[in-house]
Amino acid sequence: MSTAVAARSDFPALAAPGFVYLDNASTTQAPLAVIEAIAAFYRNGHANVGRGVYGLAERTTAAYEAARAQVARFLGLRHPSELVFTSGATDAINLVVEGWARRRVTAGSRVLTTVLEHHANLLPWQRLTRQHGARLETIDIDEEGRLDLDDAAAKLPGATVLAVTAISNVLGVRMPLPALAALAREHGVCMVVDAAQAVGHEPVDFAAIGCDFMALSAHKMLGPTGIGVLAARRERLLELEPVRVGGGMVREVAALGSDGPSRWREPPWGLEAGTPHIAGAIGMAAAAEYLAALGLPRIAAAEESLVRALLDGLRELEGIRVLGPGPGAARAGIVSFTFASHHPHDVAGLLGELGVAVRAGHHCAVPLMRHLGAPSTVRVSLGPYNDEGDVTALLAGLRHVTRVLA
Ligand code: PMP
Repeated sequence: MSTAVAARSDFPALAAPGFVYLDNASTTQAPLAVIEAIAAFYRNGHANVGRGVYGLAERTTAAYEAARAQVARFLGLRHPSELVFTSGATDAINLVVEGWARRRVTAGSRVLTTVLEHHANLLPWQRLTRQHGARLETIDIDEEGRLDLDDAAAKLPGATVLAVTAISNVLGVRMPLPALAALAREHGVCMVVDAAQAVGHEPVDFAAIGCDFMALSAHKMLGPTGIGVLAARRERLLELEPVRVGGGMVREVAALGSDGPSRWREPPWGLEAGTPHIAGAIGMAAAAEYLAALGLPRIAAAEESLVRALLDGLRELEGIRVLGPGPGAARAGIVSFTFASHHPHDVAGLLGELGVAVRAGHHCAVPLMRHLGAPSTVRVSLGPYNDEGDVTALLAGLRHVTRVLA
């Protein structure tokens, strides 16, 4: 019996018989709906956005803004203008750090984060706090990766920023975002959420979470690469200074030789200098539409049931250490593990030869690896097209691989 929510036949990349794709935390495959939306954009001709007055230019601008509105609805934003298109989650976080935090995090300021963060939500903060003589502090986690809310409550007063992931891309542990947001609001702390691993796997409602900024990438939610989103509460968006300036974002250009400043368009357009990834935005909107039609609660329930089967199966393997929480509310569809006597790269390499795609490495989370005392792990991560057959194939592959490596 298949538990996949998405029809495999919707995904040309999964057509090869026997191919088992379990590296969705890295990137997801695109359904035909996304591929066709991007192809149609180029096939029907395109212009640039926000500039031309002829028909094709107006249609292209309308399509780009319709994509913004669709993705904004999908993410629970109050208004499309709260959505800035970026090149991805990394770009979105860097925009917050350089365009908002750089002028607010000063000597003695405190930025709070966790040891679980992907480098995308760590290195920009680490560099900024070092440059400005500020402190980067981590909120405690327990041995399964669950965040200690008491420690968060103790550390939040007086902090400037709380930068936290929604779901760890290594441990699959979910952070208690609404509770954290309530605390952050109470103490006037700007909360930045890295939602890269949550969007597309479970309902994500920006307004309901109650954070200030949220970053994500389209390619992790069945969309194209090179496009992502910075979502922001309107008040914060108005405080955000453009990091890149240039074409398309200027309202008034100061005369050369004058001292006067140039003035930017209002956000989000003032934050999107240059020609945006129009096809990417259209593809991302198609992915949002596809996911919404499948139903995010259904996707989350299916991933949860597959994770249970996966965790049960893994625990029967000899010499394995499964990281992160057991099945339940804190556990999303990402599972990392190590073997006492096999290197993760050997395991992943042999699985790859069997047609089972999983990731091995530090997963761009080196501080977490140090914390766990494991330089690398094998990581299995689910998407809406995975089913019980994929989990069975993985477990059979692992039994074979551990026999071969023994
Ligand atoms: N945050 C998390 C939690 C991630 O897993 C990733 C991608 N692995 C990123 C941020 C960065 O995403 P991108 O490379 O698309 O900018």
